[in-house]
Order: sequence, then C-alpha cells, then structure tokens
Amino acid sequence: MKYAEHISELVGGTPLVRLSSVTEGLTATVLAKVEYLNPGGSVKDRIALKMIEAAEASGELRPGGTIVEPTSGNTGVGLALVAQRKGYRCVFVCPDKVSQDKRDVLRAYGAEVVVTPTAVPPDHPDSYYSVSDRLAREIEGAWKPNQYANANGPASHYESTGPEIWADTDGRVTHVVAGVGTGGTITGTGRFLHDVSADRPEADGGRVVVVGADPLGSVYSGGDGRPYLVEGVGEDFWPSAYDPSVPDRIIAVSDADSFAMTRRLAREEGLLVGGSCGMAVEAALRFARELQDSDPDAAARAVIVVILPDGGRGYLSKIFNDSWMRSYGFLGADEGATVGDVLR
Ligand code: PMP
Repeated sequence: MKYAEHISELVGGTPLVRLSSVTEGLTATVLAKVEYLNPGGSVKDRIALKMIEAAEASGELRPGGTIVEPTSGNTGVGLALVAQRKGYRCVFVCPDKVSQDKRDVLRAYGAEVVVTPTAVPPDHPDSYYSVSDRLAREIEGAWKPNQYANANGPASHYESTGPEIWADTDGRVTHVVAGVGTGGTITGTGRFLHDVSADRPEADGGRVVVVGADPLGSVYSGGDGRPYLVEGVGEDFWPSAYDPSVPDRIIAVSDADSFAMTRRLAREEGLLVGGSCGMAVEAALRFARELQDSDPDAAARAVIVVILPDGGRGYLSKIFNDSWMRSYGFLGADEGATVGDVLR
C-alpha cells in the first residue's frame, strides 16, 4: 500500500506541465510548475515545513509551543497544517481588510486569528506589526517565523524547488521565471539553478538565467511601492529573504496584463491559478518573445520553467468576476458577456 502518514509529508514534488495555448507563436518550451498541488494549496507549504523543522532543531520552537505570525494567506495555511501534525498552537494576526473567507480558512485548520485595524500606522500599538510582536513576547513558548527575514525560506527552495526543476527537466532547464514577494522562491530556486548549471557548456544551455516577475510599482522593479492589486508579490520595502544578486533580470508587469493572463490560463490551459501566476507567465512569455526576436536558435532550444505559486479559488470574487474586473477597467464593457447577458 502506498500512503503518507500525514498530509504534511506530501509537501513538494509538484509536477511540470507544458503551456501549449498561451504560447502560440513561440518556439521555446515553456513549462509551468504547479505549486497549487501542494497540500495547503500553495508554494508556501515548502517554507512553512522548513522554517518549523529548523526552529525545532535550533530549540527556538519547543514541544507545546505557539507559532505567532502576521499572515493572512498562504503562509498561514502551510504553517497551520504542519503545526497541526506536530501539536503546536498557531496564532495569526491579520488586518481587517483581509476577507472573512481567508480568516475562515485559517480557523478551519485550527489556527486562532487575531484581527487588527488596517487604518492605523505601523508604530501604533494596535497595528498588525505591534500586535504580532506583543503576542510573540507575551505568549509562553511563542516563536515567530518571520518569513520576510527567515533564511530557511530561501533554503527550502534551494533544497526542494530548485532540485525538482533540475531533475524533472533532465538538467535541460535554461531559464526560470518566478514572481517576487518575500523573495524566498526566486532567491533559493535561482541560487540552486545557478550553482548546478555554473559549468554547463554553452551548447547545452550554459548557466541558467533567473528572471524575476514583479508588479509594476513595486520596489523590485524600481517602483516606489505604489499600490497594485495582484496579491502575494511585490513589496514597498526590501526583505532580507531576498538576495537581489540572484535574479539576472526583473520584468515588471501591470495588474491588467497579469489578470488577463490569469484568466487565459484558466480558460485555455485548464489552470485555475492566482494573479501572481498570470503575472509570472506574462513575464515568461515576454522574455521568450524577446529571445526569439534577438536569437531565434537560442529560443528554439530554450526550456523556460515558470513557477505558479497558488490556485485560483481564492480569487473568484476578484480576477474571475467580470464586474470586479470592469470596475477597475481591466475588462471592456462588452468583454466577458455570456449567452445569458445577450438574451437578457
Ligand atoms: N504568489 C503568491 C500568491 C504568494 O503568496 C507569494 C508569497 N508571498 C508569492 C507569489 C511570492 O513568493 P515569495 O514570497 O517566495 O517571493
């Protein structure tokens, strides 16, 4: 019989699937790494597992301890499912702008959720940051993973995501494209692929090129942190989980282009994924197009792997909702009309 003892043992080992429709006209092979197939539904399961195991090994997290983290989404789910297995309590802090659905998901996994007001400055005692710091200080046996500064985030990708891509492409990957949030994915995966391909002959693809995708306005692509709607990526500060020397190139993508590609992935590729996935694929395809225009031979040999961090179910009322899309001008008035609309 083949089975796992617990769902948390099934983190990682996600498959690659070739994109065949959105890549029309491109000669490069573009492969998507489908991270929503992780048990918690996102790439963040990987860092959750590694951060917890490392904290246990260092003694920062002891039996019966409590994990305290300001998170509203994917990292919380990953931490909650690993914590459940190991008997830790989880207390997550999220601002009140986070949807009820997202808080309910965390509670469903058994986590406690503390909600803080969004409309206060970061140094206010009721802010998201102040409350999580205070809880981490006051709760006996508390440990705060701090995904933005925890070196085990990028390390998890160096040990799992990178080697999986190398193995599944038989060492033929030439480019990797990933969105940048905390920077953990691109730093760890990119560093591994750089290291493993450092001496690969040019004829076999040379050193892997690491491409970061960033929302237009975020600091990674030179923005001032101005707001954008794609979730989970981009920052208004430089987290230490990100090593800016790893990406060879950063491509900025607008919300409109990210969301348009996200919808195409669902409709044309059967991949119901989140907005940061559309952003990363858009960047990958732009890169492939540029390469094809400048060096057709290299493009024909290119094997471009793009990481899709999470699934689309959490975005049904936004990216996949025509009225929401129209309210931001991302969809023309007559786009997305259904037979029902026409008959009405
Ligand atoms: N997309 C989504 C939906 C995410 O939640 C994250 C994590 N913040 C990312 C992309 C980016 O990953 P990383 O933090 O490793 O840069």
